[in-house]
Amino acid sequence: MGRAFVYVIIGGGVAAGYAALEFTKRGVSQGELCIISEESVVPYERPALSKGFLLPEAPARLPSFHTCVGANEERLTPKWYKEHGIELVLGTRVKSADVKRKTLLTATGETISYKILIVATGARALKLEEFGLSGSDAANVCYLRDVADATRLVDVMQSCTGGNAVVIGGGYIGMECAASLVINKINVTMVFPEAHCMARLFTPKIASYYEDFYTAKGVKFIKGTVLSSFDMNSNGKVTAVNLRDGNHLSADMVVVGIGIRPNTALFEGQLTLDKGGIKVNGRMQTSNSSVYAVGDVAAFPVKLFGESRRLEHVDSARKSAKHAVAAIMEPEKTDEFDYLPFFYSRVFTLSWQFYGDGVGEIVHFGDFSGTTFGAYWVSKGHLVGSFLEGGTKEQYEALSKVTRLKPAIEDVAELQRQGLGFALLV
Ligand code: FAD
Ligand code: NDP
Repeated sequence: MGRAFVYVIIGGGVAAGYAALEFTKRGVSQGELCIISEESVVPYERPALSKGFLLPEAPARLPSFHTCVGANEERLTPKWYKEHGIELVLGTRVKSADVKRKTLLTATGETISYKILIVATGARALKLEEFGLSGSDAANVCYLRDVADATRLVDVMQSCTGGNAVVIGGGYIGMECAASLVINKINVTMVFPEAHCMARLFTPKIASYYEDFYTAKGVKFIKGTVLSSFDMNSNGKVTAVNLRDGNHLSADMVVVGIGIRPNTALFEGQLTLDKGGIKVNGRMQTSNSSVYAVGDVAAFPVKLFGESRRLEHVDSARKSAKHAVAAIMEPEKTDEFDYLPFFYSRVFTLSWQFYGDGVGEIVHFGDFSGTTFGAYWVSKGHLVGSFLEGGTKEQYEALSKVTRLKPAIEDVAELQRQGLGFALLV
Protein backbone atom coordinates (compact mmCIF):
# COMPACT_ATOMS: atom_id res chain seq x y z
CA MET A 1 0.00 0.00 0.00
CA GLY A 2 1.22 3.47 -0.70
CA ARG A 3 0.65 6.87 -2.15
CA ALA A 4 2.06 8.57 -5.23
CA PHE A 5 2.93 12.25 -5.72
CA VAL A 6 4.46 14.26 -8.52
CA TYR A 7 6.85 16.05 -6.15
CA VAL A 8 8.14 14.80 -2.79
CA ILE A 9 10.43 16.67 -0.40
CA ILE A 10 12.25 14.59 2.24
CA GLY A 11 12.94 16.77 5.25
CA GLY A 12 10.79 19.48 6.80
CA GLY A 13 13.37 22.14 7.62
CA VAL A 14 14.27 25.55 6.27
CA ALA A 15 14.85 24.43 2.68
CA ALA A 16 11.59 22.45 2.59
CA GLY A 17 9.58 25.50 3.71
CA TYR A 18 11.11 27.79 1.10
CA ALA A 19 10.70 25.11 -1.59
CA ALA A 20 7.00 24.75 -0.70
CA LEU A 21 6.42 28.49 -1.05
CA GLU A 22 8.18 28.53 -4.42
CA PHE A 23 6.13 25.55 -5.65
CA THR A 24 2.90 27.41 -4.85
CA LYS A 25 4.17 30.64 -6.45
CA ARG A 26 4.89 28.67 -9.63
CA GLY A 27 1.51 26.99 -9.62
CA VAL A 28 1.70 23.49 -8.14
CA SER A 29 -1.70 21.79 -8.16
CA GLN A 30 -3.56 20.48 -5.09
CA GLY A 31 -2.33 17.01 -4.14
CA GLU A 32 0.83 17.11 -6.26
CA LEU A 33 3.34 17.93 -3.51
CA CYS A 34 4.15 15.97 -0.35
CA ILE A 35 6.62 16.82 2.46
CA ILE A 36 7.86 14.02 4.70
CA SER A 37 9.57 15.12 7.89
CA GLU A 38 10.88 13.44 10.98
CA GLU A 39 9.96 16.56 12.95
CA SER A 40 6.39 16.83 14.17
CA VAL A 41 5.95 20.50 13.27
CA VAL A 42 5.82 22.22 9.88
CA PRO A 43 9.04 23.91 8.65
CA TYR A 44 10.41 26.72 10.78
CA GLU A 45 13.33 29.16 10.81
CA ARG A 46 15.98 27.08 12.60
CA PRO A 47 18.20 30.13 13.44
CA ALA A 48 15.56 31.27 15.98
CA LEU A 49 16.42 28.27 18.19
CA SER A 50 19.77 29.66 19.40
CA LYS A 51 18.54 33.26 19.61
CA GLY A 52 14.91 34.34 20.29
CA PHE A 53 13.85 30.89 21.53
CA LEU A 54 16.37 31.00 24.40
CA LEU A 55 15.49 34.47 25.70
CA PRO A 56 14.33 34.58 29.33
CA GLU A 57 11.65 37.18 28.54
CA ALA A 58 9.12 37.04 25.70
CA PRO A 59 10.89 34.11 24.03
CA ALA A 60 10.03 33.25 20.42
CA ARG A 61 7.73 30.23 20.18
CA LEU A 62 6.04 28.47 17.30
CA PRO A 63 3.97 29.34 15.35
CA SER A 64 5.68 32.77 15.30
CA PHE A 65 8.80 31.62 13.42
CA HIS A 66 7.51 29.18 10.83
CA THR A 67 9.10 29.65 7.41
CA CYS A 68 9.17 31.84 5.51
CA VAL A 69 9.15 34.80 7.93
CA GLY A 70 12.95 34.94 8.02
CA ALA A 71 13.05 36.31 4.47
CA ASN A 72 10.06 38.61 4.99
CA GLU A 73 7.85 36.21 3.12
CA GLU A 74 4.54 34.68 4.07
CA ARG A 75 4.40 32.63 7.29
CA LEU A 76 3.53 29.08 6.33
CA THR A 77 1.36 27.63 9.11
CA PRO A 78 -0.22 24.14 9.02
CA LYS A 79 -3.37 25.88 7.71
CA TRP A 80 -1.40 27.32 4.78
CA TYR A 81 -0.23 23.85 3.71
CA LYS A 82 -3.81 22.57 3.97
CA GLU A 83 -5.19 25.45 1.91
CA HIS A 84 -2.61 24.80 -0.79
CA GLY A 85 -3.30 21.07 -0.91
CA ILE A 86 0.22 20.14 0.21
CA GLU A 87 0.33 16.74 1.90
CA LEU A 88 2.30 16.76 5.15
CA VAL A 89 3.64 13.51 6.54
CA LEU A 90 5.07 14.74 9.85
CA GLY A 91 6.76 12.94 12.72
CA THR A 92 7.77 10.30 10.18
CA ARG A 93 11.30 9.26 9.26
CA VAL A 94 12.10 8.00 5.79
CA LYS A 95 13.85 4.68 6.43
CA SER A 96 15.05 3.87 2.94
CA ALA A 97 15.01 5.25 -0.58
CA ASP A 98 15.17 3.54 -3.95
CA VAL A 99 16.07 6.08 -6.62
CA LYS A 100 15.74 3.53 -9.45
CA ARG A 101 12.17 2.66 -8.48
CA LYS A 102 11.48 6.25 -7.31
CA THR A 103 10.11 5.10 -3.98
CA LEU A 104 10.61 5.94 -0.32
CA LEU A 105 9.81 3.69 2.61
CA THR A 106 8.77 5.42 5.83
CA ALA A 107 9.29 4.19 9.38
CA THR A 108 5.52 3.60 9.58
CA GLY A 109 5.79 1.11 6.72
CA GLU A 110 4.25 3.26 3.99
CA THR A 111 5.73 3.35 0.49
CA ILE A 112 5.57 6.81 -1.10
CA SER A 113 6.49 7.20 -4.74
CA TYR A 114 7.49 10.32 -6.65
CA LYS A 115 8.25 11.61 -10.11
CA ILE A 116 10.65 14.25 -8.76
CA LEU A 117 12.34 14.10 -5.36
CA ILE A 118 13.95 16.97 -3.44
CA VAL A 119 16.34 15.84 -0.73
CA ALA A 120 16.31 18.44 2.07
CA THR A 121 17.44 16.28 4.96
CA GLY A 122 19.86 18.85 6.40
CA ALA A 123 22.32 17.61 8.98
CA ARG A 124 22.60 16.10 12.43
CA ALA A 125 24.65 17.34 15.36
CA LEU A 126 27.86 15.38 15.95
CA LYS A 127 27.79 13.48 19.23
CA LEU A 128 30.59 13.20 21.79
CA GLU A 129 30.52 9.43 21.27
CA GLU A 130 31.80 9.99 17.72
CA PHE A 131 34.97 11.39 19.31
CA GLY A 132 35.34 8.37 21.59
CA LEU A 133 33.73 10.12 24.60
CA SER A 134 30.54 9.27 26.48
CA GLY A 135 27.79 11.12 28.35
CA SER A 136 25.51 12.49 25.61
CA ASP A 137 22.46 10.93 27.24
CA ALA A 138 23.08 12.56 30.66
CA ALA A 139 20.06 14.52 31.90
CA ASN A 140 21.84 17.89 31.78
CA VAL A 141 23.90 17.52 28.57
CA CYS A 142 22.29 19.44 25.70
CA TYR A 143 22.69 19.56 21.94
CA LEU A 144 20.86 22.02 19.69
CA ARG A 145 19.56 21.13 16.25
CA ASP A 146 15.77 21.10 16.40
CA VAL A 147 12.88 22.51 18.36
CA ALA A 148 12.75 19.43 20.60
CA ASP A 149 16.43 20.01 21.55
CA ALA A 150 15.71 23.72 22.13
CA THR A 151 12.73 22.95 24.38
CA ARG A 152 14.90 20.60 26.42
CA LEU A 153 17.72 23.16 26.58
CA VAL A 154 15.29 25.77 27.97
CA ASP A 155 14.09 23.31 30.65
CA VAL A 156 17.64 22.46 31.71
CA MET A 157 18.65 26.14 31.64
CA GLN A 158 15.72 27.18 33.82
CA SER A 159 16.74 24.61 36.44
CA CYS A 160 20.28 26.08 36.54
CA THR A 161 19.79 29.82 37.11
CA GLY A 162 22.82 31.18 38.95
CA GLY A 163 24.69 27.93 38.28
CA ASN A 164 27.58 26.93 36.01
CA ALA A 165 27.44 25.83 32.39
CA VAL A 166 30.28 24.40 30.34
CA VAL A 167 29.96 24.99 26.61
CA ILE A 168 31.93 22.53 24.49
CA GLY A 169 32.86 23.94 21.05
CA GLY A 170 33.78 27.44 19.89
CA GLY A 171 31.77 27.55 16.66
CA TYR A 172 28.33 28.99 15.93
CA ILE A 173 26.37 26.92 18.46
CA GLY A 174 28.98 27.48 21.17
CA MET A 175 29.09 31.26 20.68
CA GLU A 176 25.34 31.80 20.34
CA CYS A 177 24.40 29.47 23.21
CA ALA A 178 27.06 30.95 25.51
CA ALA A 179 25.54 34.41 24.97
CA SER A 180 22.02 33.09 25.61
CA LEU A 181 23.14 31.30 28.79
CA VAL A 182 24.69 34.52 30.12
CA ILE A 183 21.45 36.38 29.39
CA ASN A 184 19.74 33.67 31.46
CA LYS A 185 22.07 34.44 34.39
CA ILE A 186 24.20 31.33 34.10
CA ASN A 187 28.00 31.38 34.54
CA VAL A 188 29.64 30.12 31.36
CA THR A 189 32.98 28.52 30.60
CA MET A 190 33.68 27.83 26.93
CA VAL A 191 36.08 25.01 25.99
CA PHE A 192 37.41 24.43 22.48
CA PRO A 193 40.49 22.98 20.81
CA GLU A 194 41.50 25.95 18.68
CA ALA A 195 43.54 29.05 19.60
CA HIS A 196 40.47 31.28 19.23
CA CYS A 197 36.71 31.16 18.74
CA MET A 198 35.07 30.72 15.30
CA ALA A 199 38.41 29.50 14.01
CA ARG A 200 37.17 28.60 10.55
CA LEU A 201 35.96 32.13 9.78
CA PHE A 202 37.30 34.71 12.22
CA THR A 203 40.83 36.09 12.05
CA PRO A 204 42.67 36.15 15.41
CA LYS A 205 42.05 39.93 15.56
CA ILE A 206 38.29 39.60 14.94
CA ALA A 207 38.04 36.69 17.38
CA SER A 208 39.78 38.63 20.12
CA TYR A 209 37.17 41.41 19.85
CA TYR A 210 34.35 38.91 20.50
CA GLU A 211 36.29 37.05 23.20
CA ASP A 212 36.96 40.35 25.02
CA PHE A 213 33.28 41.25 24.74
CA TYR A 214 32.25 37.84 26.14
CA THR A 215 34.88 38.08 28.90
CA ALA A 216 33.40 41.42 29.95
CA LYS A 217 30.06 39.60 30.23
CA GLY A 218 31.67 37.08 32.56
CA VAL A 219 32.40 34.23 30.12
CA LYS A 220 35.61 32.27 30.76
CA PHE A 221 37.56 30.72 27.86
CA ILE A 222 39.65 27.58 28.06
CA LYS A 223 41.30 27.14 24.67
CA GLY A 224 43.53 24.56 23.03
CA THR A 225 42.04 21.60 24.87
CA VAL A 226 39.10 19.20 24.76
CA LEU A 227 36.81 17.30 27.06
CA SER A 228 38.20 14.04 28.44
CA SER A 229 35.34 12.85 30.69
CA PHE A 230 32.36 13.82 32.84
CA ASP A 231 31.84 13.20 36.57
CA MET A 232 28.27 11.97 37.05
CA ASN A 233 26.02 11.65 40.09
CA SER A 234 23.64 8.78 40.86
CA ASN A 235 20.76 10.61 39.08
CA GLY A 236 22.60 10.48 35.77
CA LYS A 237 23.54 14.15 35.86
CA VAL A 238 26.93 15.58 35.00
CA THR A 239 28.44 17.32 38.04
CA ALA A 240 31.85 18.20 36.62
CA VAL A 241 33.74 18.31 33.34
CA ASN A 242 37.30 17.00 33.12
CA LEU A 243 39.51 18.41 30.38
CA ARG A 244 42.51 16.84 28.72
CA ASP A 245 44.75 19.65 30.04
CA GLY A 246 43.91 18.60 33.62
CA ASN A 247 41.26 21.27 34.30
CA HIS A 248 38.27 20.14 36.39
CA LEU A 249 35.18 22.35 36.02
CA SER A 250 32.13 21.96 38.20
CA ALA A 251 29.01 22.01 36.03
CA ASP A 252 25.24 22.22 36.46
CA MET A 253 24.76 21.81 32.72
CA VAL A 254 26.73 21.22 29.51
CA VAL A 255 26.00 22.41 25.98
CA VAL A 256 27.76 20.59 23.15
CA GLY A 257 28.22 22.21 19.71
CA ILE A 258 31.00 20.34 17.94
CA GLY A 259 29.83 20.41 14.36
CA ILE A 260 27.41 18.53 12.14
CA ARG A 261 27.26 15.76 9.53
CA PRO A 262 24.92 16.01 6.53
CA ASN A 263 22.12 13.42 6.46
CA THR A 264 23.18 11.52 3.34
CA ALA A 265 22.77 7.93 4.61
CA LEU A 266 19.58 7.18 2.59
CA PHE A 267 21.42 7.84 -0.67
CA GLU A 268 24.90 6.46 -0.12
CA GLY A 269 25.67 4.07 -2.97
CA GLN A 270 22.81 5.55 -5.04
CA LEU A 271 23.84 9.18 -5.63
CA THR A 272 27.27 10.73 -6.14
CA LEU A 273 28.58 12.33 -2.95
CA ASP A 274 30.95 15.31 -2.58
CA LYS A 275 32.26 17.36 0.36
CA GLY A 276 30.40 15.07 2.75
CA GLY A 277 27.09 15.89 1.06
CA ILE A 278 25.17 15.05 -2.11
CA LYS A 279 26.75 16.38 -5.28
CA VAL A 280 24.47 18.54 -7.45
CA ASN A 281 24.88 20.61 -10.59
CA GLY A 282 23.94 24.28 -11.08
CA ARG A 283 20.28 23.23 -11.26
CA MET A 284 20.57 21.48 -7.86
CA GLN A 285 20.14 18.17 -9.69
CA THR A 286 21.97 15.10 -8.36
CA SER A 287 23.59 12.28 -10.35
CA ASN A 288 20.04 10.93 -10.80
CA SER A 289 18.09 13.39 -12.94
CA SER A 290 14.83 12.88 -10.98
CA VAL A 291 16.47 13.74 -7.67
CA TYR A 292 17.44 17.23 -6.51
CA ALA A 293 19.26 18.18 -3.28
CA VAL A 294 19.18 21.51 -1.44
CA GLY A 295 20.30 23.14 1.82
CA ASP A 296 22.94 21.78 4.21
CA VAL A 297 23.02 18.37 2.49
CA ALA A 298 23.88 19.67 -1.00
CA ALA A 299 27.37 20.28 -2.41
CA PHE A 300 26.80 22.68 -5.31
CA PRO A 301 29.03 24.59 -7.74
CA VAL A 302 29.73 28.11 -6.48
CA LYS A 303 30.32 29.87 -9.81
CA LEU A 304 32.06 32.80 -8.16
CA PHE A 305 34.81 30.53 -6.78
CA GLY A 306 34.83 28.00 -9.64
CA GLU A 307 34.46 25.09 -7.25
CA SER A 308 31.84 23.13 -5.38
CA ARG A 309 30.96 23.90 -1.76
CA ARG A 310 28.62 22.56 0.86
CA LEU A 311 27.35 25.46 2.96
CA GLU A 312 25.65 25.13 6.36
CA HIS A 313 23.77 28.41 6.48
CA VAL A 314 20.19 29.51 6.21
CA ASP A 315 20.51 31.91 3.27
CA SER A 316 21.95 29.15 1.10
CA ALA A 317 19.19 26.73 2.24
CA ARG A 318 16.51 29.26 1.27
CA LYS A 319 18.00 30.21 -2.08
CA SER A 320 19.10 26.74 -3.17
CA ALA A 321 15.58 25.45 -2.44
CA LYS A 322 14.01 28.23 -4.46
CA HIS A 323 16.43 27.60 -7.31
CA ALA A 324 15.75 23.84 -7.39
CA VAL A 325 12.00 24.46 -7.68
CA ALA A 326 12.54 26.99 -10.48
CA ALA A 327 14.75 24.47 -12.31
CA ILE A 328 12.13 21.73 -11.86
CA MET A 329 9.09 23.75 -12.90
CA GLU A 330 10.55 26.10 -15.52
CA PRO A 331 13.75 24.43 -16.71
CA GLU A 332 14.12 26.43 -19.91
CA LYS A 333 13.87 29.76 -18.05
CA THR A 334 16.25 28.83 -15.23
CA ASP A 335 19.99 29.57 -15.37
CA GLU A 336 22.71 27.90 -13.34
CA PHE A 337 22.61 28.82 -9.62
CA ASP A 338 24.91 31.79 -9.09
CA TYR A 339 25.24 32.17 -5.34
CA LEU A 340 27.27 34.55 -3.18
CA PRO A 341 27.89 32.79 0.17
CA PHE A 342 26.45 34.80 3.07
CA PHE A 343 26.79 34.04 6.79
CA TYR A 344 25.73 36.07 9.81
CA SER A 345 25.28 35.91 13.54
CA ARG A 346 23.77 38.00 16.32
CA VAL A 347 24.84 37.73 19.96
CA PHE A 348 24.20 40.15 22.84
CA THR A 349 24.12 43.58 21.17
CA LEU A 350 26.56 42.47 18.48
CA SER A 351 25.75 41.57 14.89
CA TRP A 352 28.02 40.65 11.98
CA GLN A 353 27.72 39.63 8.35
CA PHE A 354 30.17 37.86 6.05
CA TYR A 355 30.11 37.54 2.27
CA GLY A 356 32.18 35.43 -0.11
CA ASP A 357 35.24 33.39 0.71
CA GLY A 358 37.59 33.77 3.68
CA VAL A 359 40.83 32.96 1.88
CA GLY A 360 44.00 34.90 1.07
CA GLU A 361 45.51 38.01 2.59
CA ILE A 362 43.49 39.70 5.33
CA VAL A 363 42.96 43.46 5.41
CA HIS A 364 41.37 44.67 8.63
CA PHE A 365 39.64 48.04 8.76
CA GLY A 366 37.61 50.20 11.13
CA ASP A 367 37.74 50.74 14.86
CA PHE A 368 38.38 47.54 16.79
CA SER A 369 38.00 49.44 20.06
CA GLY A 370 34.60 50.77 18.96
CA THR A 371 31.51 49.19 17.48
CA THR A 372 32.09 49.05 13.71
CA PHE A 373 35.01 47.20 12.14
CA GLY A 374 35.63 44.59 9.53
CA ALA A 375 37.96 42.82 7.15
CA TYR A 376 38.45 42.05 3.49
CA TRP A 377 40.06 38.91 2.11
CA VAL A 378 42.21 39.38 -1.01
CA SER A 379 43.19 36.33 -3.03
CA LYS A 380 45.11 36.23 -6.34
CA GLY A 381 44.82 40.02 -6.64
CA HIS A 382 41.04 40.15 -6.12
CA LEU A 383 38.79 40.97 -3.21
CA VAL A 384 36.98 37.68 -2.50
CA GLY A 385 35.55 38.02 1.01
CA SER A 386 34.29 40.66 3.40
CA PHE A 387 33.21 40.86 7.04
CA LEU A 388 31.56 43.66 8.98
CA GLU A 389 30.48 43.99 12.61
CA GLY A 390 27.94 46.64 13.58
CA GLY A 391 27.10 47.80 10.05
CA THR A 392 23.99 49.50 8.71
CA LYS A 393 21.71 47.98 6.08
CA GLU A 394 23.34 50.14 3.39
CA GLN A 395 26.85 49.16 4.48
CA TYR A 396 26.01 45.44 4.39
CA GLU A 397 24.44 45.84 0.97
CA ALA A 398 27.60 47.58 -0.25
CA LEU A 399 29.76 44.72 1.08
CA SER A 400 27.58 42.15 -0.62
CA LYS A 401 27.77 44.03 -3.91
CA VAL A 402 31.52 44.62 -3.84
CA THR A 403 32.25 40.99 -2.92
CA ARG A 404 30.15 39.68 -5.80
CA LEU A 405 32.08 41.95 -8.20
CA LYS A 406 35.44 40.54 -7.04
CA PRO A 407 37.29 43.77 -7.92
CA ALA A 408 41.03 43.67 -8.68
CA ILE A 409 43.10 45.02 -5.77
CA GLU A 410 46.41 46.50 -6.82
CA ASP A 411 47.31 48.21 -3.57
CA VAL A 412 46.38 46.43 -0.36
CA ALA A 413 47.61 49.35 1.78
CA GLU A 414 45.23 51.64 -0.08
CA LEU A 415 42.36 49.18 0.48
CA GLN A 416 43.16 49.24 4.17
CA ARG A 417 43.23 53.04 4.20
CA GLN A 418 39.84 53.25 2.45
CA GLY A 419 38.31 50.51 4.62
CA LEU A 420 34.54 50.40 4.40
CA GLY A 421 34.70 53.42 2.10
CA PHE A 422 36.04 51.14 -0.64
CA ALA A 423 32.81 49.08 -0.66
CA LEU A 424 30.62 52.17 -0.46
CA LEU A 425 32.30 53.70 -3.54
CA VAL A 426 31.91 50.64 -5.80
P1 FAD B 1 17.29 21.53 8.24
O1 FAD B 1 16.69 22.87 8.49
O2 FAD B 1 18.18 20.94 9.27
O3 FAD B 1 16.11 20.51 7.94
C1 FAD B 1 16.32 19.14 7.71
C2 FAD B 1 15.01 18.42 7.96
O4 FAD B 1 15.09 17.09 7.46
C3 FAD B 1 14.64 18.28 9.43
O5 FAD B 1 13.28 18.57 9.59
C4 FAD B 1 14.91 16.79 9.72
O6 FAD B 1 14.14 16.29 10.77
C5 FAD B 1 14.52 16.19 8.39
N1 FAD B 1 15.04 14.85 8.10
C6 FAD B 1 16.34 14.46 8.08
N2 FAD B 1 16.42 13.14 7.75
C7 FAD B 1 15.16 12.71 7.54
C8 FAD B 1 14.58 11.46 7.18
N3 FAD B 1 15.34 10.37 6.94
N4 FAD B 1 13.24 11.38 7.07
C9 FAD B 1 12.45 12.47 7.30
N5 FAD B 1 12.95 13.67 7.65
C10 FAD B 1 14.27 13.79 7.76
N6 FAD B 1 22.35 29.67 9.70
C11 FAD B 1 22.53 30.99 9.45
O7 FAD B 1 22.87 31.36 8.32
N7 FAD B 1 22.32 31.93 10.42
C12 FAD B 1 21.96 31.59 11.68
O8 FAD B 1 21.81 32.46 12.54
C13 FAD B 1 21.78 30.20 11.98
N8 FAD B 1 21.42 29.81 13.21
C14 FAD B 1 21.26 28.47 13.47
C15 FAD B 1 20.90 28.08 14.77
C16 FAD B 1 20.77 26.75 15.08
C17 FAD B 1 20.39 26.35 16.47
C18 FAD B 1 21.00 25.76 14.09
C19 FAD B 1 20.87 24.30 14.43
C20 FAD B 1 21.35 26.14 12.80
C21 FAD B 1 21.48 27.50 12.48
N9 FAD B 1 21.83 27.93 11.20
C22 FAD B 1 21.98 29.26 10.93
C23 FAD B 1 21.99 26.96 10.11
C24 FAD B 1 20.68 26.80 9.34
O9 FAD B 1 19.61 26.65 10.24
C25 FAD B 1 20.78 25.61 8.41
O10 FAD B 1 21.76 25.90 7.44
C26 FAD B 1 19.45 25.31 7.75
O11 FAD B 1 18.48 24.95 8.70
C27 FAD B 1 19.60 24.21 6.70
O12 FAD B 1 18.35 23.94 6.16
P2 FAD B 1 17.99 22.48 5.61
O13 FAD B 1 16.55 22.53 5.21
O14 FAD B 1 19.02 22.04 4.65
O15 FAD B 1 18.14 21.52 6.87
P1 NDP C 1 30.81 24.55 13.95
O1 NDP C 1 31.38 23.73 12.87
O2 NDP C 1 30.51 25.98 13.76
O3 NDP C 1 31.79 24.52 15.22
C1 NDP C 1 32.16 23.36 15.88
C2 NDP C 1 33.21 23.73 16.89
O4 NDP C 1 33.46 22.67 17.78
C3 NDP C 1 34.54 24.06 16.24
O5 NDP C 1 35.11 25.10 16.97
C4 NDP C 1 35.27 22.73 16.40
O6 NDP C 1 36.66 22.79 16.30
C5 NDP C 1 34.86 22.41 17.80
N1 NDP C 1 35.09 21.03 18.19
C6 NDP C 1 35.14 19.94 17.39
N2 NDP C 1 35.37 18.86 18.16
C7 NDP C 1 35.47 19.25 19.44
C8 NDP C 1 35.69 18.59 20.68
N3 NDP C 1 35.87 17.26 20.75
N4 NDP C 1 35.72 19.34 21.80
C9 NDP C 1 35.53 20.68 21.74
N5 NDP C 1 35.32 21.35 20.60
C10 NDP C 1 35.28 20.65 19.46
O7 NDP C 1 29.52 23.73 14.42
P2 NDP C 1 28.42 24.05 15.52
O8 NDP C 1 28.17 22.77 16.23
O9 NDP C 1 28.79 25.25 16.31
O10 NDP C 1 27.16 24.43 14.63
C11 NDP C 1 26.35 23.40 14.05
C12 NDP C 1 25.70 23.88 12.78
O11 NDP C 1 24.78 24.90 13.05
C13 NDP C 1 26.67 24.43 11.75
O12 NDP C 1 26.25 23.98 10.49
C14 NDP C 1 26.47 25.92 11.82
O13 NDP C 1 26.69 26.54 10.55
C15 NDP C 1 25.01 26.01 12.21
N6 NDP C 1 24.75 27.23 12.97
C16 NDP C 1 24.91 28.41 12.32
C17 NDP C 1 24.68 29.58 12.98
C18 NDP C 1 24.88 30.84 12.22
O14 NDP C 1 25.13 30.79 11.02
N7 NDP C 1 24.76 31.99 12.87
C19 NDP C 1 24.24 29.61 14.37
C20 NDP C 1 24.14 28.32 14.98
C21 NDP C 1 24.38 27.18 14.28
P3 NDP C 1 37.38 22.36 14.89
O15 NDP C 1 37.16 23.53 13.99
O16 NDP C 1 38.80 22.16 15.31
O17 NDP C 1 36.73 21.11 14.40
